[in-house]
Amino acid sequence: MQAWEKSLNQSVTSPEELAGLFRVDAAPLAGVVGRYPMRITPYYLGLIKEPGDAIWRQCVPDPAELADLSQSPDPLDEERLSPVPGLIHRYPDRVVWIASASCAVYCRFCMRKRGVGCAGMQVAPQKEALEYLAGHPEIRDVVLSGGDPLLLSDERLEDLLAGLRRIPHLEIVRIGTRVPVTLPERVTPKLAALLKRFHPLFVNTHFNHPDEITDRSARACALLADAGIPLGNQSVLLKGVNDDPQVMRRLMLKLLLLRVRPYYLHQMDLVKGTAHFRTPLAKGVEVLKALRGHTSGLAVPHYVIDLPGGKGKVEVAAECVRREGSRLVVTTYLGETLEYQDVC
Ligand SMILES: *Cc1c(COP(=O)(O)O)cnc(C)c1O
Ligand code: SF4
Repeated sequence: MQAWEKSLNQSVTSPEELAGLFRVDAAPLAGVVGRYPMRITPYYLGLIKEPGDAIWRQCVPDPAELADLSQSPDPLDEERLSPVPGLIHRYPDRVVWIASASCAVYCRFCMRKRGVGCAGMQVAPQKEALEYLAGHPEIRDVVLSGGDPLLLSDERLEDLLAGLRRIPHLEIVRIGTRVPVTLPERVTPKLAALLKRFHPLFVNTHFNHPDEITDRSARACALLADAGIPLGNQSVLLKGVNDDPQVMRRLMLKLLLLRVRPYYLHQMDLVKGTAHFRTPLAKGVEVLKALRGHTSGLAVPHYVIDLPGGKGKVEVAAECVRREGSRLVVTTYLGETLEYQDVC
């Protein structure tokens, strides 16, 4: 057994274990965990400074999860858009491949909360999914997602990537993973060497708060970056966790130090069980405005809403430009209003 597998086995998975570590009442959490599983790795648990902080809120179950009855388990219609179960083909030239049903830590705000970590998550059957990709020459980009694809063993991962690379029209492979944040020991030199054989390969990770950036997560990112893997980050705007422009600014600047380029800032999806994390759109715009112009443009992510019904992602702009005929009225990052002449 590898070190990271041992860590997974030592994770906290029951309210009773949690109650043994912190002053919490286990009883109200039992029902939540019965519906939406909990797992907190020893490493991620160690990042908690006090109950209720930004790390805690991301990983400790909350009775509010069961109180959200209005939202849909699958608002993005992922299941309807899967020609092969677990393979989501929503855009013309790229697909999402659900490669694993489990994660190191079960994020309470997960957009695939309907099934992640339990029997409900449909993982794409490898043979059928590869056949589908081989038969669709328009697909040039595969996003391995889940669950967390890096919870697969090195052998399974190698087999999957080799299968993808036998399809000539597949140009790029992306891996979406939270292990640099929640289980950094998973990123071994061996894993980095394995991934390097399948370039062009991109990794998008998922840091949400500056307290998640530690020596160990930095080392995991360095191993990947040194293997020539471009690293991106997708954050989710979460009430009570990171809905603060100054917190987000610190996160984005720290990511750049890790050679991780902020890619997306996601508005919370309308996923059942996550309503207590939603923030108004104005909060995300406020975050954007606190970044653009004030600091490196490299630190500014695209703020996106993934539209219900599988309509795709749409970018939310900071609305700094208003048109009046051929005249544009622009607002600078310092709040100055200027005119700019367009060509007609
Ligand atoms: C987000 C997403 C992608 C990738 O979108 P990019 O904007 O290219 O990063 C592809 N397919 C689905 C279903 C997605 O949700
Ligand atoms: S790592 Fe990603 S897929 Fe897994 S629980 Fe967290 S948000 Fe969901």
